[in-house]
Amino acid sequence: MQNIDWSKLPFGYFQTDYNVRCYYRNGKWGEIEVSSSPHINIHMAATCLHYGQEAFEGMKAYLGKDGKIRIFRWEENAKRMQRSADGILMARVPEELFHTMVSKAVKLNEHFVPPHGHGAALYIRPLLIGTGIQVGVNPAKEYLFMVFVGPVGPYFKEGFNPVKMQIVRDVDRAAPLGTGHIKVGGNYAGSLFASERAKAEGYASVIFLEAKEKKFIDEAGPANFFAIKGKTYVTPKSPSILPSITNMSLMQIAADMGMTVERRPLAVEELEGFEEAGACGTAAIISPIGTIVDRDSGKTYTFGDPSAAGPVSTRLFKKLQAIQYGDEPDPHGWVSFVE
Ligand SMILES: *Cc1c(COP(=O)(O)O)cnc(C)c1O
Repeated sequence: MQNIDWSKLPFGYFQTDYNVRCYYRNGKWGEIEVSSSPHINIHMAATCLHYGQEAFEGMKAYLGKDGKIRIFRWEENAKRMQRSADGILMARVPEELFHTMVSKAVKLNEHFVPPHGHGAALYIRPLLIGTGIQVGVNPAKEYLFMVFVGPVGPYFKEGFNPVKMQIVRDVDRAAPLGTGHIKVGGNYAGSLFASERAKAEGYASVIFLEAKEKKFIDEAGPANFFAIKGKTYVTPKSPSILPSITNMSLMQIAADMGMTVERRPLAVEELEGFEEAGACGTAAIISPIGTIVDRDSGKTYTFGDPSAAGPVSTRLFKKLQAIQYGDEPDPHGWVSFVE
């Protein structure tokens, strides 16, 4: 195995030794298969290729000082993948199968779990696709559930430093009654144009607005949005937001710290009054936002010192990471060990 410079890992694909797979055929899940090939062989008429029957999850495994591998709130990812499956008529992966396959993929690639202390982790990517053939628009009768893993560093090259984001109105990520609330690839297809343009224009990511009225903040690219004012943590509520498990955990930690947590529609103009803002998700955990520019009006919102993460975001980030890495107690039972 090659020598990995753990402190310089990008957030990207990394080839490891094994991945695990399981097929759903004739109305039931089969045996778990272990593969060392990164390729899959599917029919060209598989529904995932034509009609978007694809859902995924993103999780991380962390190595503690005690040498134990921890995974964070896997039950929530398992449940969310079931909601995604229901939303686009795919076979549900049973929670136990999800857990067994995630644990197996991690265990088989144990030596790729980054050592404690670099801010790196083993990223876990469970993936459910329709493999059954259909030419007419119908859900497949066969599915493939796969889990692959790979070591990753921080999501944004800036690390835990504030990024710039751009509000757009000419592209919607998801429709109010569409699929924004489930983790399906189709949502990402619709967001690529605006994200790539934002990057070309010098931003880390796009802030999408709620599509019906375009007044309220929906999501910060592939992450949830939150903002801080005094002792209040505010995060948007909308039917087209993907419920982030990181955000759910930060809301709990904020409440534990004695903060008031508000989950409600968050109007763009309100950005003016916040001291800190951030994007949260498994990949970045928290990415502090220093500046938000409205692409239409040119209006710029800045949060605290735009060159340094704010004190509340920093405390929330450190607390959540300390729980994930096992450096501090886990009062809510979020962490489980990969044996
Ligand atoms: C996965 C995802 C998130 C973050 O969810 P976590 O459970 O915190 O990783 C946020 N928004 C979108 C659109 C996502 O796909």
